[in-house]
Formats: sequence, C-alpha cells, structure tokens
Amino acid sequence: MQDNFGREINYLRLSLTDLCNFRCNYCMPPEGVKKLPHENVLRLEEMLEVVRLMANRLGFTKVRVTGGEPLIRRDMMSFMEGLGQIDAIRDLALTTNAYKLAEMADDLKSAGLNRLNISLDTLRRDRFEHITGVDGIEQVLTGIRAACAVGFKPIKMNVVAMAETLDEACDMVAFGFEHNVEIRFIELMPVIGRSEPTYIPNEVVLQELAKRYDLTPARSNGNAAGLDLHSAAATYRIKTTGTGPTLESTCGFISPISHPFCSRCNRIRINASGQIKPCLARNQVYETMPFVRPELQADKLTEFISDVVGRCKRRSAGDYEIDSMSVFGG
Ligand code: SAM
Ligand code: SF4
Repeated sequence: MQDNFGREINYLRLSLTDLCNFRCNYCMPPEGVKKLPHENVLRLEEMLEVVRLMANRLGFTKVRVTGGEPLIRRDMMSFMEGLGQIDAIRDLALTTNAYKLAEMADDLKSAGLNRLNISLDTLRRDRFEHITGVDGIEQVLTGIRAACAVGFKPIKMNVVAMAETLDEACDMVAFGFEHNVEIRFIELMPVIGRSEPTYIPNEVVLQELAKRYDLTPARSNGNAAGLDLHSAAATYRIKTTGTGPTLESTCGFISPISHPFCSRCNRIRINASGQIKPCLARNQVYETMPFVRPELQADKLTEFISDVVGRCKRRSAGDYEIDSMSVFGG
C-alpha cells in the first residue's frame, strides 16, 4: 500500500497495552499516563482480526509488537501465537524492557517471534533506577541472557542517547560485543512536559565511541552513507582497536531529530484501543473501533485504513507533538 508521498507502507507497530511496569523519565511522567478506559481497549482476539486483515488485504508484512510494556498484557502469548500463524506476516518483532523476559523468552521463540529489541540505557544500577523508577537492572540482564540462550539472533538493544549516560556509550558497545547484541542509539524525542533527560545528537555519541572504537559506515543497499533505505537506522561497522583480539559488530544510529527519516518511513501505528496513528510526530489519530465492534466489518475497515494511509501528512522538522511514547509504542 502506498501513501500520498509514494512511500510503501507495509510495517505495522502494534501497541498491546498502554500500561507499563516502568516509568522511564524520557517516556512518561513519574505518576504515569492516564489509563485508556477499559471498555475502549480492544480484546486480543479483536486485535488479531485487525492485524489479519491488514496482512491479508493491505499487504502488511512486518509487525512489531510494543507498548506500554507488551509482556505485561495478560494472554499476550496466545496473541503472539496467533500472529505467528498469519502466513502473510514475514517478520514478527517485539520491543520490550525485558523485565519479564526471562520467564517468557522460550515461549516467545516457539510462538514464531523472529526479532527482539530490548530497551536498556545504562548498565549502572543507580542510573537504571533513576531512569526507570525501578530497581530492576539485574532482572533485565537476566532477561537478556535468557533471550540469548534461547537463540534470538540478532537481538538489538535500544539505547536512548542522552547527556546523562554518554560516558557509558563505549561500555554499552562492549556489552553488545560480549552478548552478541547489536546496540542502536536512538535520539531522544521530546515528550510534552518532560524536561529530563538531556538531548544530545547522535553525532556526539559517534564522537564518544570513536575514542575507543573504529567506526565505518556500513554499505547497505549500495548506499555509502550507511543508511538502510528500508530502516530508520544508519548502520556502522564498529571494531575494537589496540592490542588483543579484534571484536567487530554493527551499531545502529536512529536520528529522528538530527536526521529525520520521514521520506523513508514505511510504518503506521495502532494502539490498544485501535486508534491508528499514521505519524509518530503528530497527535492526529483515527478510530477503527466503529469497524471492529460489535463485529468486524472487513470491507469498511479495509477501505478506512487505505484512506487513512492515503491522507497521511509528513511532519516538518522540529514539530513533534508527543504526549507519551507509551501509548503508541515509540
Ligand atoms: N516498554 C517497551 C520498551 O521500553 O522497550 C516498549 C515500548 S517503548 C515506548 C519503545 C521504545 O521507545 C523504547 O526503546 C524506548 O526507549 C523508546 N522511547 C521511549 N520514549 C522515548 C523518547 N522520548 N525518545 C526516544 N525513544 C523513546
Ligand atoms: Fe515503559 Fe518502555 Fe516507556 Fe520505559 S520506554 S516507560 S519501559 S513503555
């Protein structure tokens, strides 16, 4: 499906719940966000019907399950199994804070999940608690080890770039080498009402990494700038320097602020109450609920989603309007 800018839209990000067991300071206020009313939250069977329609009728081939924290939604595993059985979905991914991952990694793999992103911004216990509001780093690290042990490969680790943890950038990459995890630095997007942490552009992270590592843009799709045209991330090869065995990996940089990738965007988002958000940076949402309850109206919903994608507006630089990342899943 193409939007009105000729972009091929085939990637759905699905927020299973607006709830979260963390309170990351860059994502939501300390008291959390106002909960979606229970009656407005789609049942997982309803959500599965919507995804099945989008895959079978509208050509969506990639689905990423996110949140809030997707692993805390009850019965999410049978939902994942349902997604795993939709043949048209060729790429099934999930983003999690990994707090509950240790007990779920094996079943997620069996359900058909083939790509896993874990969010972790620091390796220091005190900083972790300051950022997330939870003294939980050990549990997250156990979750990462469990995911590696059941064979998720490559796991990508999302690290929000911020001034407060810049001194750990090299250590995060070292952690990636040690656990065979690809690190991806994501520029902080402004969330309304949040003044902490402090934004830094990914260039600053690159300069920090260059103190300890060799970095070269990875050639991808023939693009020497290291930009994968189907991905938001610029990819670099990263290599240890000096004596000792050479360790080498890839490292991603997602730079929505300093290098907006709107022209390469191929995704839309749906939240737990079935609202479609065509652009993360804009507050505009479209309700699918009237086409889902009391029963799915497949033809009308197909037409509605095509129409919404067609009407999508691109943001212009600097005009982010994000209330919280947790409702639509970043
Ligand atoms: N709870 C899950 C997690 O944290 O992985 C999934 C939802 S979370 C909203 C998805 C991603 O959005 C995480 O990797 C998180 O770091 C990122 N994120 C949240 N707020 C952000 C912000 N203000 N700027 C950039 N990334 C953000
Ligand atoms: Fe929760 Fe993820 Fe937001 Fe952190 S970034 S508060 S883990 S939804």
